[in-house]
Amino acid sequence: MKPILTVGSVAFDSIKTPTGEFSHLVGGAATFFSIAASFFADVRLVGVVGEDFTEEHSRVFAGRRIDLCGLQQVAGETFRWRGEYSADFSKRETLYTRLNVFEAFKPEIPTEFRSSPVVFLANIHPSLQLDVLNQVNSPDLVALDTMNYWIEGTPNELRAVLARVDVVIINDEEAQQLSGEANLVKAARAIRAMGPTHVVIKRGEHGVLVTRGERLFAVPGLPLEDVRDPTGAGDTFAGGFLGYLSSMPTVTEENWNQAVIAGSAMASLSVQDFGLGALLNLTKTEIGNRFQDFKSLTHFDAL
Ligand code: AMP
Repeated sequence: MKPILTVGSVAFDSIKTPTGEFSHLVGGAATFFSIAASFFADVRLVGVVGEDFTEEHSRVFAGRRIDLCGLQQVAGETFRWRGEYSADFSKRETLYTRLNVFEAFKPEIPTEFRSSPVVFLANIHPSLQLDVLNQVNSPDLVALDTMNYWIEGTPNELRAVLARVDVVIINDEEAQQLSGEANLVKAARAIRAMGPTHVVIKRGEHGVLVTRGERLFAVPGLPLEDVRDPTGAGDTFAGGFLGYLSSMPTVTEENWNQAVIAGSAMASLSVQDFGLGALLNLTKTEIGNRFQDFKSLTHFDAL
């Protein structure tokens, strides 16, 4: 069992989808990641919240395998994000991103977290991601997520951190934007040339494409009738994926592929309710059942 250190946003989200609208939900990339990963492994969360983040809000982490001693609370407001989805959920518009307390945030990795064997740099300013890497002692596995906001706004900082990670976990549009390649296999190859050996491309309802060197593995999205809110699905995927990998004694091709299913199962469960709603009420049995759903969806006997 390898504990996972993660740094990223803890946020208040306002979300409008074709099935409803909610504001001031606890969210953030590191929040979705940590809660999903904690079903499989111990998680150490590093981030910052403002004075408006109350004990009531932090209850989403309570009773889970999540160590919050790296979560600072400082004067000011918590990160806020607002997104709105198109009628078929395929497009999302960001209406605002207010970094607030993240503007002046300096991640400080508690001494007892510095030897974490697995590190997940959730979507946040690449300089903060780099700052975290400079404070840890040669982890076995470093994974990173990012988004168009940073690909466009801070490309040099992003390149610097990419050169030091093993696994990139991004969505298809981001992979295309980062690489300048429309074709995803070529995009993954171009991203590997920037440093990472593994590229995981999230394709929303179409599933996931994984490249390990030149080897490909792909999983479809589980066809769901009742999608309510895709927010955080990418981070939840990353949590299930890295949580599962961390729970394995060694990383083999077989458990790597199983981890992709674990991530897909967690993400498919998460989108069935708003914000963290589905994850907070999830049981291990439901996760196991969803894993089996993926198995029956994709299994066939070769001729
Ligand atoms: P996803 O749907 O996987 O892209 O993740 C959505 C989560 O990412 C939301 O909970 C937001 O609070 C958070 N988020 C959105 N934009 C940013 C950003 N620029 N930096 C960090 N976190 C963000």
